[in-house]
Amino acid sequence: MNSYIGEPDFNAGYYQALTYVAIVIVISIVYQTKQVQRYLSGSKVPEIPDLPQRRDKYEQDVYAQGMSQSTTALAPTSKIHFTPTVYAHKLWNYVFHILGVGDMSIGEIIIFILYIAINIIFLVIPFNGSGIPSTINIRAAYVALGNAAFVYPMATRNSVFLKLIGVPFERMIRFHRWVGRTIFYLLTFHASYQITIVGNLRQIFNREVTRYGFLAYISIFIIIVMSHSLFRRYFFELFYWSHFFFIFFFIFGCLHQPQFLVFTIYGFVLYVIDRAIRFINGFKPVEMVSIEALSGGVTRIVFDFKSRYEAGQYMFVNFSNLNPPVSLIAWHPVSFSSAPGIGSDDVSHDSIHMKIQGSFTRRLYAQSQEGIYNMPSKMKVDGPYGRPTLDFSSYRTVVLVAGGIGITPMFSILRDLVDRQISNKPIVTQSIYFLWTIPDTNAYSWFGNELTETNDKFTKRLPENKYLLDIKIFLTKSSTTPSSLFFQGRPDFLTVMQDLKHYHGSGDIAVGVCGPPSMLKEVRKAAVAESDETCLIKVHRETFEL
Ligand SMILES: Cc1cc2nc3c(=O)[nH]c(=O)nc-3n(C[C@H](O)[C@H](O)[C@H](O)COP(=O)(O)OP(=O)(O)OC[C@H]3O[C@@H](n4cnc5c(N)ncnc54)[C@H](O)[C@@H]3O)c2cc1C
Repeated sequence: MNSYIGEPDFNAGYYQALTYVAIVIVISIVYQTKQVQRYLSGSKVPEIPDLPQRRDKYEQDVYAQGMSQSTTALAPTSKIHFTPTVYAHKLWNYVFHILGVGDMSIGEIIIFILYIAINIIFLVIPFNGSGIPSTINIRAAYVALGNAAFVYPMATRNSVFLKLIGVPFERMIRFHRWVGRTIFYLLTFHASYQITIVGNLRQIFNREVTRYGFLAYISIFIIIVMSHSLFRRYFFELFYWSHFFFIFFFIFGCLHQPQFLVFTIYGFVLYVIDRAIRFINGFKPVEMVSIEALSGGVTRIVFDFKSRYEAGQYMFVNFSNLNPPVSLIAWHPVSFSSAPGIGSDDVSHDSIHMKIQGSFTRRLYAQSQEGIYNMPSKMKVDGPYGRPTLDFSSYRTVVLVAGGIGITPMFSILRDLVDRQISNKPIVTQSIYFLWTIPDTNAYSWFGNELTETNDKFTKRLPENKYLLDIKIFLTKSSTTPSSLFFQGRPDFLTVMQDLKHYHGSGDIAVGVCGPPSMLKEVRKAAVAESDETCLIKVHRETFEL
């Protein structure tokens, strides 16, 4: 490597990679410090004040009477945030729809612009008095390598890299996509420039260095084309398997230019370790207690998970051990729909609920419906993974919003909070609002028993003046409502948040949401609109997409 240091184009990639390392170190220090603070403050059992008096009016005003804002007694409010903090929060979280990309917050757009700026700077910055690089095509290749140093660890599920910076796999995958595409555009520039210089394809194949370069480029070309959202959404297997062309990209890249190895080896090693851990996990199946086909195409699987997990996490499952197997090699992500069950005195099992989407979930449902599985049986599990971006137990008021099968992680969080309240764990949460939108009462059966049981446990075990659990089910395709638990139509999140502020007074609110993109956007917009000096509304969102 030393022989290359000093060469302007090599230096560009090298210092760019070092810039990323510096950013990673700063993020790690911030995250790890927060973890320590959280650990130190997490053991104190807080004092729970009395709730303001006025549930009855809240019910009538906000939900039954066409979502008008409540005018009843307010809890005392005071300013707890500076105005610039509020504006920064609103600006960072403001959501835009970008054509062909989807919803992005201004915060994400800023991060993206910074990332592109770093790339442009290292593409054109003069090194060693070289001026604007005359060899910009070579420079582009080195800047691509600076990015390639990070593209592999960004796609790992178990790596020290993700643990250090505290960004879970399902969130990091978005950055993996950005970095992957940037590498591709830079290499497209590099390759087309080289082809123009060499003249024709035959000459490219005659020379070893250009032949391997060309093959490396074809490998990344296949990966990028197949990772288009069209393939990811509708031909997932094609997208998944074509991604393994990264191995050819790595091999041909190293044969084309030995420096490729210098940049990518660390990330590649982390990736190999991750695959090894996942492979070993595959040999530790968990015992299934039951598998049941519920109405509306949902399969519920109850099992005993021996390892630790946290509410809101997910795992990858494989049902090749079932007789007959659902699929031999496919691993699918699914959220825990149960809570880890700390302090619970009931016999508690763990569960997942999978709704029909495509061939895999359809086969699982059809086979469960036929009742052909003998229990106990085993399923393979890789996980748990993921982490909610908010620590819900440190907020006095928590709102959990779910659309359809998006209830799984939200119920897990709800159950965990209630279990911890009941068992007198150090938890600040006093009021929980649970809003679930489903088409009709059929879907209610997916979690009806669980919600009733949680509510019963809550009302029996916790004092009414101190704790509040408010469960509301919204039916979008039903003309009747069987009980006061149910409401017609969709919740108006703006009104809901206005009312929560009205009722609870000052104090930040944590919102968790999992559902269709339109629901996520509405919740995020309402949270931004209603945040002010008395209350910042922070949103953790979950999409069932990687
Ligand atoms: C973090 C996470 C948690 C999830 N939790 C739940 C849950 O609790 N309940 C539930 O019903 N569904 C959940 N899903 C969705 C579930 O993984 C998909 O519905 C399922 O994998 C679809 O497989 P299929 O072959 O039936 O459908 P397909 O038609 O093949 O796929 C439907 C969609 O699921 C995605 N998908 C398919 N296979 C995979 C895979 N192996 N890895 C990643 N994405 C894939 C694709 O983007 C595709 O657009 C979750 C997804 C994620 C990412």
